[in-house]
Amino acid sequence: MHSPTLVIVAGILAVLVTTVLYAVWYFNKGIPGLRLWTLSFLSASVFCAILLVRVHLPEVLSGVLAQASISVAAYLCLLASRAYMGLRPLPHGYAVTAIAAVMALAAYFTVVQPHMGIRFALAGSVSGVCFLLTAHTLARGGFRNVPARYLFALVAGLHGLFLFLRPLLFRLATPEGGAGVNMVALLSQFVVLEATLALVMMAFGTLMLTNEYTTSELRHLAEMDPLTNVFNRRAFLTLLDKAISSAQRTPSGLSVLAMDLDHFKKVNDTWGHKSGDDVLRHFVRLATGCLRNEDVMGRLGGEEFAIFLPNADSEGTRVVAERLRAMVASQPVLTDRGPIGLTVSIGATQYLPGDSSDALLQRADEAMYLAKEHGRNRVEALAL
Ligand code: GH3
Ligand code: MG
Ligand code: MG
Repeated sequence: MHSPTLVIVAGILAVLVTTVLYAVWYFNKGIPGLRLWTLSFLSASVFCAILLVRVHLPEVLSGVLAQASISVAAYLCLLASRAYMGLRPLPHGYAVTAIAAVMALAAYFTVVQPHMGIRFALAGSVSGVCFLLTAHTLARGGFRNVPARYLFALVAGLHGLFLFLRPLLFRLATPEGGAGVNMVALLSQFVVLEATLALVMMAFGTLMLTNEYTTSELRHLAEMDPLTNVFNRRAFLTLLDKAISSAQRTPSGLSVLAMDLDHFKKVNDTWGHKSGDDVLRHFVRLATGCLRNEDVMGRLGGEEFAIFLPNADSEGTRVVAERLRAMVASQPVLTDRGPIGLTVSIGATQYLPGDSSDALLQRADEAMYLAKEHGRNRVEALAL
C-alpha cells in the first residue's frame, strides 16, 4: 500500500539515527534512557525493513511482525522517557499482553476475517498510547528550565494523536466516504511522511535531551559542593546577588545566616576525618530540614555555611536561627562508636539598602564571630 521509495527513505533514516544514537550511547553510558531510545529506533528500523520485504513474506507473518516491531519501538520510547525522568521501570506485563493481543488480532484479521481497516487501526493502537504516555511523562519541569523535554513531548504527543486519527482519515477517503482511490494513495504517502518526520524529530529530541542531561550534570558539578550537596561558595554568592536584586525591587526582607560549627577541629582529631565528613553531612541535613523552599544554603568553606532567607522579617529570621541551633545541639550524630555531640554558632543579619553580597555576608560573619566570643552554641544578630 505504501510507496516503496518513501519507505526506503524512512528505513535509511531509521538506520542512520539508530547508528548515531548507538555511538552517542557508547560514549555516554551514564545518560538515563539513551540505551532504550537507541533500541526503540532499532525497532523502528526493523519495522521499515519488514515493510520493505513484506511482498516476499506470507501476508500474515509480515503483518504480525510489523505490528509487533512498531509497538515495541513505541513501548521502548515510553520506557526510555521514564528512565530519563528517573521514574521507576514499568512492570512489562501490560505491554506484553497488549502487544500479544495486537499480534493475535492482526493474524485473525488477516487469515480468518481479512479486514485491512481494522489491521490499520490496530497498528496505531499500542504505539499511539505509548507515544501519548511518553508526552505525558516528559512534559514536566517547566518549559523555561527544560525546553528539550517539552519539544520531545510535543512531537511524541502529536504523533500519538495522529496514530489514533489515521484510520478516521482513511474512512473519510474511502469511496463510500466520497473521495476515492487517489485520495487513499495520497493519504498513505502522507502517513509514511508523517511517520518519517516523527522519527527524525524524535531523534533530534533524543539528542537534545542528551545535551540537556550533560549540561545539567556539568552545572551541578560546577555549582554544588560534592561532600554536602549544597551550593558551593561561588554559586551561593551568585544566587545571593540575584536575591539582593529582587530585594531591591520589592520591599520584602532578605536575611542571611552565617554558621560555623563549634570546635570542629576537635571532632576531626577525636573521631577522624571521615567522621568529620559525616558530621558535616548530618549538619546540612538538619539545616536544610529547617528551611522553606525558597531559602538557599551554601557551604562557604570547611565547616562554614550560610543560608539566605528571602521574604523573611527579623522575627522570622531569629526564630529559624534559634530553631536550627537548638536542633543541632539536641541531635548528636549517631555512629557505631557512639554519639558525636555538635553545636553551631550562628550570626544573623538582614539586607540593608546599598549592601553588596560581600558586605551582607561579612556582617553575618561578624555576628557569627560575636556568637563565638560570647561562648559558642548561640545566635547573635547585627542590624536585625
Ligand atoms: P571554632 O569553634 O572556633 O570554629 O573551632 P573549630 O575547631 O571549628 O575551627 P577551626 O577553623 O580551627 O577548624 C576547622 C576545622 O575544619 C579544620 C579542618 O580540619 C576542618 N575541616 C575543614 N574542611 C573539612 C572537611 O571537608 N572535612 C572534614 N572532616 N574536616 C574539615
Ligand atoms: Mg568552627
Ligand atoms: Mg571555621
